[in-house]
Amino acid sequence: MWRHLWMLKTPSKLKIFLQKALYDAIPSNLAIHKRVQLREANCQTRCGIDEYTLHVLTQCPRAAGAWFSSKFFLRPELISGENFKDWWCGLCEINLMSLALSALGNLEG
Ligand SMILES: [Zn+2]
Repeated sequence: MWRHLWMLKTPSKLKIFLQKALYDAIPSNLAIHKRVQLREANCQTRCGIDEYTLHVLTQCPRAAGAWFSSKFFLRPELISGENFKDWWCGLCEINLMSLALSALGNLEG
């Protein structure tokens, strides 16, 4: 998982953000609410769900729309996981599988 993360061809600041998300260390509303209880735990998009890492990065309608409108046309709800780390591992498996299928395609051609 970590090797896959650090091999991504993306800016370092995004890799660091993803690393924090994988450690469930991003300041989501739920995480802040658990510490200080001065803030509502709800998602800022007003979707009616508590804002935790997996929700804000994959399950929230805004996040799901961003994934689907990306060049990957990814539907994040098709990858299961109880937390963002599980979800990310599922994504890595799909990615590795697509690379393997691509390699097989090259062998056939
Ligand atoms: Zn939401």
